Amino acid sequence: MPYPPLPAVATRALRLIFGALLLPVITATASEEARYTDSHLHTVDFFQQGAPLETLLSAMDAAGVGNAMVSGMPLMKKWHENEPKRPDTYAGDDAGVYWFSATDAYLAESLEALAPAQRDRLHPFLSGFNPTDKNADLHLQKMTELYPGLWQGIGEVITRHDDLTALTEGETPRANSDAMFRVYRYAGHNGLPVLLHSNITSKRERNPLYAGEVEAALARFPDVNIIWAHAGTSKTLHRHQGTMAFLLPEITRILETYPNLYIDLSWSVLRPYLLDSNDQPVSGWVALVSRFPDRFMIGSDLLGKYGRLGEKLAEFEPFLQALPKEVAHQVARGNFLALLPTRGVCPQHVARCSQARCVQGTPKRRLADVAAYFR
Ligand SMILES: [Zn+2]
Repeated sequence: MPYPPLPAVATRALRLIFGALLLPVITATASEEARYTDSHLHTVDFFQQGAPLETLLSAMDAAGVGNAMVSGMPLMKKWHENEPKRPDTYAGDDAGVYWFSATDAYLAESLEALAPAQRDRLHPFLSGFNPTDKNADLHLQKMTELYPGLWQGIGEVITRHDDLTALTEGETPRANSDAMFRVYRYAGHNGLPVLLHSNITSKRERNPLYAGEVEAALARFPDVNIIWAHAGTSKTLHRHQGTMAFLLPEITRILETYPNLYIDLSWSVLRPYLLDSNDQPVSGWVALVSRFPDRFMIGSDLLGKYGRLGEKLAEFEPFLQALPKEVAHQVARGNFLALLPTRGVCPQHVARCSQARCVQGTPKRRLADVAAYFR
């Protein structure tokens, strides 16, 4: 038998019923008044540890975040035999990191324990696969069968990521591998957006060395909406290169060329690109976001700890306030939601897919429909 048996449906149903009775139901008020959608958030860190989702929901209420993308973490840091102290970041010592598929099951199980009104505010993405393995799409299929109707996207897929890539065991992933093409094909068949981390270059090359890998994916899968995490930047790139002068013209060119490209502006883009050293909005980026008002979004990129959620998103305010008001609304909360399928993805031939939350062939949500999230 190629797969282990499905988990006991009855157990899960009981847990859902009792979970709904025991957990406080979040009022609709939080979503109606929400300023933000967090389009990039991890519920665990590089050790697969994270605070309970109830903590996240409380932090969202306090920070004016109505909805959030939630993703596990596809990589696990090893506590190596040679290391006397347990590391607390992936860069804590020289030990490797490895691909960790259980992250998706951890996320699914914690979501299934929430009350439906709580779960509706969280939008889970599948990330627990090795992007150099052509079996990656089998994992997506399997997780869809185990949790029909749950998943709303794929990512954060981690390909080019400077020091993290150097510590990752096995081959270096890239956005245009055959394995990733199979992942995009799965995304396309199911109307799922893909959040992709691919640094635009290496630590030393002062040119868009890896942009072509992302472009190849965009060109080959025009029906797949790809969200480029951090616009191809990273803190490590910044440390080595300073401000990359080619970033704005390159992102502009690629946005012009590929209508299926979306940009996550989360933190490593914020400074020094969106805001200068005096925290003033940079006019070139204000103009670009205003020119493509439905292509940009913001996120916290937190890893299982949510105490700084409000602070991380409020840091975007000087930039958001430099945008036309309606564009700021779209970037702050609407654009990410517009990319989600109307329902989570369901397997093609599974009886459990008759559940109310499963529908086949879900169309992509249009921006005009986003208001439904705030009712
Ligand atoms: Zn991330």
